[in-house]
Amino acid sequence: MRMILVGAPASGKGTQAKVLCERFSVPQIATGDMLRAAKAARTELGLKAASYMDAGKLVPDEVVIGLIEQRLQAADAAGGFVLDGFPRTVPQAEALRELLERLGQRLDAVVQLEVPREMLVERAVLRRTDKRTGQIYHLKYNPPPPDAELEHRVDDREETVVARLDTYEKMTAALLPYYEGKGLLLRIDGVGTPSEITERLLRVLRKG
Ligand code: AMP
Repeated sequence: MRMILVGAPASGKGTQAKVLCERFSVPQIATGDMLRAAKAARTELGLKAASYMDAGKLVPDEVVIGLIEQRLQAADAAGGFVLDGFPRTVPQAEALRELLERLGQRLDAVVQLEVPREMLVERAVLRRTDKRTGQIYHLKYNPPPPDAELEHRVDDREETVVARLDTYEKMTAALLPYYEGKGLLLRIDGVGTPSEITERLLRVLRKG
């Protein structure tokens, strides 16, 4: 399984990517997670990315393309992957196409999770991650256990979420037609419980 999950911030992409990866025994490759790790480790790349991330803007294409080129050539990605948060621009999509061609691999599907904008702000603002396990919770809809060590992403503050949603809308305006034109795009309703959404995802993937 080689697929891309596309969805706005807090659309449930990360949660679903984790479930699909377990199901298909492939790694989840999330540029946002990779960039946050680089930022926390204060690497040169991480520090360069941080100013864009904190403002809710896209990190330059060459930075994320470089990360993905390395990551997709690691042994554990040879049998498949779920890309979460990459590509976000047409140049990134083109770079991915070229890389997969070089590796002799083919994309199976691009799935978009559709969630109305008004729901996304509430989801992001009340989202928390357990820093020990990476598990994602929602204070109202999916409360964490009492012993969780919770973190609130700095870019999940309301004003940054609004900027990230604007960025996402501009991005999909070009990216979705790109994949639609290639006959790879599948859309699913992203409103519901996590397990309902997983069911929908598996159903469209089976139909392909
Ligand atoms: P995410 O965890 O996917 O919401 O990503 C968090 C932040 O990392 C985004 O708001 C961007 O600043 C940056 N980022 C992640 N993936 C990409 C990408 N493919 N292209 C550009 N910036 C990215």
